[in-house]
Amino acid sequence: MTHEQTQMAFCKGFGGISSCSCGLYHIHLPGVSIRFNEENFDRLAQMILEAKTNKDLYSSLQSETKKGHLHLVKH
Ligand SMILES: [Zn+2]
Repeated sequence: MTHEQTQMAFCKGFGGISSCSCGLYHIHLPGVSIRFNEENFDRLAQMILEAKTNKDLYSSLQSETKKGHLHLVKH
């Protein structure tokens, strides 16, 4: 089977994501290349978005705590 890929996203020096003629999504990352069908690709994207949201929430909570801590130190 040929793999004619249409690039969906690209990050210079890091990797990219292509939609392929074989019906799968190819994800290229440093040292690794993964293939997902559309359903699992959507799941992965959803999962990464969720992790990203939680990470941002966590780091904003952490900086709140740090601010609070600095505030306490001042008093
Ligand atoms: Zn392919």
